[in-house]
Amino acid sequence: MKMRSIISLMLCLCLTAAVLVGCGGNASKPTENVTEAATAAETKTDGIDYMVLVNKTHKLPDDWEEKLETVHMTNSVGDDVETEKKAYDAYLKLKADLEKDGIHVDLDSARRSVADQQRIMDDFTKQYGKDYALKTVATPGYSEHHTGLALDLYLIIDGKDITENEDMMQYPEIWSKIHAKLADYGFILRYLEGREYITGYGYEPWHIRYIDNVDTAKEIMSKDITFEEYLGAYKGGKVDIDYGTSSIYKEDELKDAVIQIECRFASLDGCVLKSIRYAGDEAVTDEKLKAIQEQNPDSKYTQIVEFLMDFHTPENTGDTTLESDRDYTDYQWWLARTADSGWEIVSFGYGA
Ligand SMILES: [Zn+2]
Repeated sequence: MKMRSIISLMLCLCLTAAVLVGCGGNASKPTENVTEAATAAETKTDGIDYMVLVNKTHKLPDDWEEKLETVHMTNSVGDDVETEKKAYDAYLKLKADLEKDGIHVDLDSARRSVADQQRIMDDFTKQYGKDYALKTVATPGYSEHHTGLALDLYLIIDGKDITENEDMMQYPEIWSKIHAKLADYGFILRYLEGREYITGYGYEPWHIRYIDNVDTAKEIMSKDITFEEYLGAYKGGKVDIDYGTSSIYKEDELKDAVIQIECRFASLDGCVLKSIRYAGDEAVTDEKLKAIQEQNPDSKYTQIVEFLMDFHTPENTGDTTLESDRDYTDYQWWLARTADSGWEIVSFGYGA
């Protein structure tokens, strides 16, 4: 989750997008432990809405940054982390409680300003071009980390800092103990496993969200629902996923592809996903691979995969490529990957 350099972020699309939107990328400026941020508004009139929804389709409220009060801390690896004030107090209580059980955590990153996100977007655009930047970097204004209420934890095990995503994923039993205590301090887990089509992100056990209400947090956590579902921002029901049978790909490889599709689908505001199915090994032809390679001459794609999706668009879809209030069936999604990278969506739509 650390953003050591821009290059290190060139991982698979969804993971990278999650890193940039959800995680990492805190600017490192040395400060005293827990000092008031210079930006902490003394002129603050009314407080922030702790139940605010910020995701791929819900933008940070315009006056958010002027209302926000933050604190800075320095974590165990020496990075400066800025957090909303009450969220930080609650985090300290959670941390102390976890320590009683021998679990040690620290803050990897919390608040990132819209301006910081714009800088990352500009750097990527300059280095890799606009298409790649738009595909890889979260749109400034649409990251929950802008709120200061989203916190990325990391683990400290036997005195060692475990900060990389893949390493942290190796401790599911520790995460479940952490998750069990979140609601007691007004936090929820934000990006649940298998709910990518709602949240737009893959599973992130480290990304927690402060909502300043213990009862509501307990309700959300005990029902095992996403924040979107609690707020009624997602209207769909259960999604059917059919991985079919393949002699080319293992089910885990197909699952990784579906996560990419679901992450992208979540940015189609108001669209309701019904089903996704593997289009079959017969769709994966040499001709199609060649065509995709030709459309993406800079890539080194060696494998492709196709999925078909059924979904329904809302009454007023903001997406110009889709008709409003319509059932789409057998909508095509093509993904490709190189010998050493994850799946990337290369095209979608009819005739894709
Ligand atoms: Zn995060």
